[in-house]
Amino acid sequence: MPKKLEHIGIAVTDLEASEKLFTKLLGVAPYKRELVESEMVMTSFFILGDIKFELLAATHPDSAIAKFIEKKGEGIHHLAFESENIEEELLEKKENQFQLIHEIPKKGADNKKIAFLHPKSTNGVLTELCQEIINP
Ligand code: ZN
Repeated sequence: MPKKLEHIGIAVTDLEASEKLFTKLLGVAPYKRELVESEMVMTSFFILGDIKFELLAATHPDSAIAKFIEKKGEGIHHLAFESENIEEELLEKKENQFQLIHEIPKKGADNKKIAFLHPKSTNGVLTELCQEIINP
């Protein structure tokens, strides 16, 4: 079972402008930007209380974020839940009939292993499971 809501992913077109907007909205500045090359996405992270906000901007028209915005416009893209053991949890979710986008976790932003559940199986909410990678 997930431990807590870790972050909310928000798809944006103009990262610069959205960073300014969220700085005003949340009253805190982003604490980092990180390029996720495999996803063709530039991310920008905010933290408020213990929830993070991950702004996602496409760096290429073929990026899933570009396609998402094309279809649905800017806005909430996914909810990410922190997992104690992501591999075990993926198996459990699969047994419970959730449709996995990633059977095996992959490296995401913010030093995390991540995997997505298909929104078709989660009432339209793209759901990410994530677990911090502990470096020995
Ligand atoms: Zn995320």
